[in-house]
Amino acid sequence: MKIEIDNLEPLPGAVDGRLMIAGPCAAESREQVMATAKALVGSGVGALRAGVWKPRTMPGCFEGVGEPGLEWLAEAGRATGLLTATEVATAAHAAAAVDAGVDIVWIGARTVTNPFAVQEVADALGEHADRVAVLVKNPLSPDIDLWHGALQRFYAAGVRRLGAIFRGFTAAAVGQPYRNDPRWGVAFELRRRIPGLPLICDPSHIAGRSELVEPVAARAMSMGFDGLIVECHPSPETALSDAAQQLTPAELIAMLGRLPQAFGESTRIGESELQDLRLRLDAIDDELIRLIAARMDVAAEIGAYKKGRSMAVVQPRRYSEMVESRVGAGEARGLDADFMRTLWAAIHEESVRRQLNT
Ligand code: PEP
Ligand code: MN
Repeated sequence: MKIEIDNLEPLPGAVDGRLMIAGPCAAESREQVMATAKALVGSGVGALRAGVWKPRTMPGCFEGVGEPGLEWLAEAGRATGLLTATEVATAAHAAAAVDAGVDIVWIGARTVTNPFAVQEVADALGEHADRVAVLVKNPLSPDIDLWHGALQRFYAAGVRRLGAIFRGFTAAAVGQPYRNDPRWGVAFELRRRIPGLPLICDPSHIAGRSELVEPVAARAMSMGFDGLIVECHPSPETALSDAAQQLTPAELIAMLGRLPQAFGESTRIGESELQDLRLRLDAIDDELIRLIAARMDVAAEIGAYKKGRSMAVVQPRRYSEMVESRVGAGEARGLDADFMRTLWAAIHEESVRRQLNT
């Protein structure tokens, strides 16, 4: 059965088509949730996030306060007019969140990895589709079908206020400073498959460090994402989870002020074919640069190894075998042999320079 997600309703809390969600990684106390909410009033943020059930990779970490946290969220929402958002991972979580009046729930990256869990939560939320909006995070691995399939399960269960959150991938991020590997191309592919689906970026979990949140957020907004979900805590250094990546409310508000597309007009991904293609090129070039830099770092390590053993930097046989194998691999993918030789000569020349300079 092919499920087309083609008849969605707008997400609640969006301003000019942009949905900004902010708040702590986890609800820790009534005061912390209320203080965050109050600090966000008037900022353009439409919804307050706080996790109450935290799916932690390692046991023994802070696993959330559970249901009392839903009451704190509801109270903060009533006091400030912000909508509220939390993560649900089971049918029982979904029922409790809806009962507490949570406006938006998201399905976390770990849950999305398991179709049984997704179906269970979809069935539970489908019954309350008029009361709650659902955002589906991408799964831990860059498996677009798993993400698309999870969205289809919610749609088929009757959810019409539906969106996706892009949080990058848990992968060995070769040569990049982020916690998660962004691989923006996967988000573009989802947009191509489901053009009408709101796509929100989670720069906090991609970045993993507070000082890297803004460049990731700026990148996402310039690429035409429909909003952001950003972790923000009154005193990030004391946070019980994800302390390194949370912004203070003041930092968050300042950041939103610097993002020209945060609340204004801009091209959504999918509106201009040429722009989409250019953005895809930009994302691929980013990856190429990161990989070339990682390659040069390895060259430097090889240089140090050879130096320690008084070996020659250039070993002609190894060089010609390497170039020929790359040329062959390129040709197998339709790349011109002369182009590949020129490219690898340049890469090799720079590698040699790096090896000599160690
Ligand atoms: C979160 O949003 O706090 C969270 C746990 O994120 P993710 O599921 O993306 O790891
Ligand atoms: Mn978090």
